[in-house]
Amino acid sequence: MADSKSIEFIEKLISFDTTSRESNLELIAFIQDYLNDLGIDSQLVHNEEGTKANLYATLGDKHISGVMLSGHTDVVPIDGQEWDTNPFNVTQTGSRLYGRGTSDMKSFIAITLAQLPKFQARSLKIPIHLAFSYDEEVGCIGVRRLIEALNGMPVKPAMCIIGEPTSMQVITGHKGKRSYRVHVRGLEAHSSLAPHGVNAIEYASRLIAFLSDLASRIADKGPHDELYDVTHTTVHTGTVHGGTQLNIVPKDCVFEYEFRYVGLQDPQALEDEIRAFARDELETRMHATSSDTGITIDLVNDMPGLEMDVDAEVVTFVKALAGRNDHAKVAFGTEAGLFHQRANIPTVVCGPGSIDQAHKPNEFIEMEQIDACEAFLGRLMDRVCES
Ligand SMILES: [Zn+2]
Repeated sequence: MADSKSIEFIEKLISFDTTSRESNLELIAFIQDYLNDLGIDSQLVHNEEGTKANLYATLGDKHISGVMLSGHTDVVPIDGQEWDTNPFNVTQTGSRLYGRGTSDMKSFIAITLAQLPKFQARSLKIPIHLAFSYDEEVGCIGVRRLIEALNGMPVKPAMCIIGEPTSMQVITGHKGKRSYRVHVRGLEAHSSLAPHGVNAIEYASRLIAFLSDLASRIADKGPHDELYDVTHTTVHTGTVHGGTQLNIVPKDCVFEYEFRYVGLQDPQALEDEIRAFARDELETRMHATSSDTGITIDLVNDMPGLEMDVDAEVVTFVKALAGRNDHAKVAFGTEAGLFHQRANIPTVVCGPGSIDQAHKPNEFIEMEQIDACEAFLGRLMDRVCES
């Protein structure tokens, strides 16, 4: 049976509308007040505007590296979704709790908060660090500032568990992602004089076709990682905007593409190949008509993948807590790759709820997942506490 305090905290956290575009400061203040009441100091790392914050806290001896429990406080928008209940007011129906963020991923944070007095009562020999971030859902923006702060601390966590919804499965890997915005600058002309212009849409479409061919080549030749549903790196164009009117040779075309890569793929080599094609094949031809034309490719978001060695201590440790021996990789990105690659903290993902419910209307978590997470934290207590 789930602890009623877990449910209370889930209800409370869901009641804050922390859609990524909104401030998360009220939710963070709530957590900070609660930690204060327990005698736990916390540190906030704000965004530049001061409208959002990460929270970092340590229970136990601050001079020793411990186990970090981490999660993001933001949720995806409900815009355009048909909900049967108020998404910011938890509704229990049978064995399910409905609400935005119940699975992704306020329940993990809530259950962790509910268990803190028990950790304290059993006296910690290994500290527990808490790291709660903002703006995960819009490209893991917030956690990057927290990582900078962590890198400047005398003692860093020895390992990290991110409670994204995995149905308490132990996740050792996820793909990395790089996303780009491309601006093709052509030369305007009356369409009857098309050869005198440089058609930005047509050059953009050549580059898009190149990306699509690249995607097919990788699907065919690999590298492949059989632990993923889609076993290879994917390349995809998501938006295109260009042109003003049919009788004008278009001067501008802007499009966005991304690739999501497996650990065996070198993302820089892929990026270099795309840039080389744009420069050598396309720009050379554009410049023959006008040197004012060109192609600018901006890297918009760079999210490292996670690739934990299955023999790493964190993997063995978390498998023991989860009471299982298997591990898997997931298609969705998390902050895990950043913690591991940018802060050198070994990290796995393991949390309650299912990714199948995340980001959808009528998002829910099963009570059984809350029980499983509490049991997981109970086993963590057995490992990190004196008694
Ligand atoms: Zn999430």
